[in-house]
Amino acid sequence: MDWDIIGHETAVRWLQRQIGQARVHHAYLFVGPPGVGRRTLARRFAQALTCLQPPAPGAYCGQCRVCRQIEAGVHPDFHLLEAPGGLKVDAVRAAQQQWNMTPREARYRVALLPEMQHATPAAANALLKTLEEPPEHLVLLLTAAEPEALLPTVVSRCEVVRLRPVPVAALQAALQARGVEPAVAAEAAAWAQGRPGLALRLARGPQARQALAAHWAQVWDLLHQPLAARLAFAEPFKPGQRDEVRAMLEHWLGVWRAVWWAQWAPQHAVAPPAWAERVQTLAQTLSPGQVRAILDDLLQGLENLNRYTSPRLVLGALLVQWPVLPRRA
Ligand SMILES: [Zn+2]
Repeated sequence: MDWDIIGHETAVRWLQRQIGQARVHHAYLFVGPPGVGRRTLARRFAQALTCLQPPAPGAYCGQCRVCRQIEAGVHPDFHLLEAPGGLKVDAVRAAQQQWNMTPREARYRVALLPEMQHATPAAANALLKTLEEPPEHLVLLLTAAEPEALLPTVVSRCEVVRLRPVPVAALQAALQARGVEPAVAAEAAAWAQGRPGLALRLARGPQARQALAAHWAQVWDLLHQPLAARLAFAEPFKPGQRDEVRAMLEHWLGVWRAVWWAQWAPQHAVAPPAWAERVQTLAQTLSPGQVRAILDDLLQGLENLNRYTSPRLVLGALLVQWPVLPRRA
């Protein structure tokens, strides 16, 4: 009953059992950091729920029309609700009319709503109506970074599936099993911090790994620069570079997550070996409160980018809050 998922064995088995024992719930919330595999897992679950000829209970064939069309995101019983900048209420209302209709050919209608933390409050409230009185045939699959970012009334009506980082060794083995050379697999797994989606992207080419390493290096450089130099760094970013800045901030988050882990649970260290010493230095130099504040500011910065704040302002506001570390000789 292979879903072709890297890691997350417990979650996969649990979801497969729900189908096998006909105890499917109306709503699931997949939580975990970007790239950990929330959306991939949700899509596999959707395929297993709707496959026309499942080879075993809880499995999907990957060959039938429904499986192939869900993979491509085009089956009429599968609804992907995704909006740049966050889900809006009109989109939810329009989808609700379709959700109420009986499925065209699958057993269920399945709706995937990624990154619900970006949905507007009005959209979340509209969705609540469906969560309170779902049509019999509907299964909603939500994803979010953290449940705390959603309305408690939304979370309480979902089965929460938490995805934790995949251990580096398991990630490396999975990459090798997919034909990645051992040296590349080791490097990609080390930099991915337990996130299979990111590891696969990193394994595809040296450019992705170099870009990530460069973004991590930016953090170190910026921490050793005075405030004026940081504002000069932020200055040239244009509104059209929003996606570029979003990717940069997500990589910066990786550095600070590593520092956070080093302070709170060093046994779960998620820093690439090349960064072990720097992460230690930051973990010892900064207080846990400072690191938490930097992480919160980064998450807020990503949120503000989604709300169309200018990238220059987002970066400037972040960087003036970072402590200035003494330059080394
Ligand atoms: Zn199938």
